[in-house]
Parts: sequence; C-alpha cells; structure tokens
Amino acid sequence: MKIALLSRNARLYSSRRLVEAAQKRGHEVRVVDALRCYMNISSNNPVLHYRGEDLTDFDAVIPRIGASITFYGTAVLRQFEMMGVYPLNESVAVTRSRDKLRSLQLLSRKGIGMPVTGFANSPDDIPDLIKMVGGAPLVIKLLEGTQGIGVVLAETRKAAESVIEAFLGLNANIMVQEFIKEAGGADIRCFVIGGKVVAAMKRQGAEGEFRSNLHRGGSASLIKLRPEERQTAIRAAKIMGLNVAGVDLLRADRGPVVMEVNSSPGLEGIERATGKDVAGLIIDFIEKNAKPHRTRTKGG
Ligand code: ADP
Ligand code: GLU
Repeated sequence: MKIALLSRNARLYSSRRLVEAAQKRGHEVRVVDALRCYMNISSNNPVLHYRGEDLTDFDAVIPRIGASITFYGTAVLRQFEMMGVYPLNESVAVTRSRDKLRSLQLLSRKGIGMPVTGFANSPDDIPDLIKMVGGAPLVIKLLEGTQGIGVVLAETRKAAESVIEAFLGLNANIMVQEFIKEAGGADIRCFVIGGKVVAAMKRQGAEGEFRSNLHRGGSASLIKLRPEERQTAIRAAKIMGLNVAGVDLLRADRGPVVMEVNSSPGLEGIERATGKDVAGLIIDFIEKNAKPHRTRTKGG
C-alpha cells in the first residue's frame, strides 16, 4: 500500500514509529505536512497539491493532526477522503473529538460515565453553575488547554468563583467539573484500535499534584484494566466514531469516568510503558480495513 502520514514533523517519536512499522510490512509511506497541502476544492476531480507536486494514488492516510491546526488539518484530511483514500480516523470524527463540550455531550447521551460537568458563558451565572455541579472542590478547565495546562483545582467555592471569573474575563471557554478525589492524582490511558483496547497505562501525577500528565512530571506504568473500564473505553471510541483513540479515564468510586477521547494519541508513553508495538497494530488495522479506491467515506 501507499500510505500518507499527515504529520508536521517526521522526527517525532510517533511519526518515526509509524513510518518504521509501515515500511517493515512492505508499504510505501510519505510524511505529509498538512499545512503545505493546497487544493482546488471546486474541481469535480478532487486532487491535492503538495509543494508543487500532485499527491495521487494513496491507499490510506493516517491523520496526526495537532490541536493547533485542527481546522486546516481536517480540511486536508477531508480532501484525501474525497479522493477515495482510506482515513485511519475520519475527518468528522477528528473534528468532533476536538470539541470537548460536544464530545462530552455525545458520550453522556449514550450513558458513558463522566465527572459531573457544567459550562456557562456569563459571569452572572457562575454561582448557580457552581451549585449545579455540586460545589467545591471543583476542577476548572480551559477548553483550549492541552497537557494539563489550564486545568485548575479550586478547593473552595470562593476560589472556584474567582478562577472562573478570571477565565471568563479573558474570554476563555471553560468547563467546570466535579473533582474525582479518589482517583488519587492518577488517570488511565486506554489505547483503542478497531474496537479493542490494545494497551493501557496508568499515569500518576508527581507528589502533591492532582494532574497526571507526563508533561507535568507524571509517571507511567502498566495497569490491569477492569472489564468495565475496558468496555467504557471501547464504547467511548465507538461513540466518537474513532478507529484509533486514546481514551482517558479516572477511577471514580462509582466506576470509570471518561475525561477525554483523543483522536491522535501519542505512541511514545504507551509503547514505553507497555512494551507493545502499538504502531505495528495500527498498520495491521489499516491492512485489514483499507479498501483502496473503495472507501466509503467521501468527506461527509
Ligand atoms: P489535558 O487535556 O490538558 O491533559 P485533562 O482534562 O486531561 O487536561 O486534565 C489533566 C489531568 O488532571 C488529568 O490527566 C487528571 O489526572 C486530572 N484531572 C482532570 N480532570 C479531573 C477531575 N475532574 N477530577 C480529578 N482529576 C482530574
Ligand atoms: N450529529 C452527529 C452526532 O451527534 C455528529 C455529526 C458530526 O459530527 O458531524 O453524532
């Protein structure tokens, strides 16, 4: 097969591993920077141009679209789909997953457990919002945040009010969440491929830190998932319409609660923690599912 890897940086661990795994299986891979793709979208013969050449004859495309280029990156992915190229994750699903409120609304509709979550726009509604989600302690999240930046724990109602007020004052979009204290500063990343959890790791925040992000000093280790956690991760990925997803869970007393479903989950942490060849499993999935030139998705 001829596979396009939509990635801005071929040197990143995840990119390198995917290229390596594809080549090992005899495929041709091309790393394509979405921001250097351009296209005439009105042509009835959809094509993509890349640094002066035509990108043609790809069988599959692996989107690794960074949060900051979601808008342009998903448009490029959609163009690949219009050309009949099989997308590992569809552009609609990637777009859906990037909107945290929309994602949680979709998951909630299907009965997936999640922290009690609220959002509001007007500072006038803050006191009632705080009451609605059960009062302090509360976790306040910037919707645009990644890697734990913009995730704040407010221990008291007063603190919650001033943090929310400050964020709204900066015109930031936020959500307010019940603090799952019993998670003990740890979360669980489930790596889902094609309806199976192929690897899972526990990330534990540094001493005194409730955020478990590896970028915030957290450490990763192997974890044995409970059946309910496995089921939740699989269902969450399915609801989002993602073939490949990183589903982040917290262990709450009432069972697993989903925080986020990531459509471009990184490979480094999970491969190092579990010793599994996740990149290889992704390529295996593409081999089984890509039907060159008979792709169902046409950029819908
Ligand atoms: P980001 O997308 O920036 O990583 P997250 O929503 O994943 O932000 O939050 C970062 C970390 O903070 C999580 O990995 C988790 O450890 C912790 N955390 C987030 N929300 C909650 C919550 N409601 N209760 C307890 N801990 C939380
Ligand atoms: N309305 C669809 C849903 O709720 C989402 C469609 C889309 O993401 O474009 O699942």
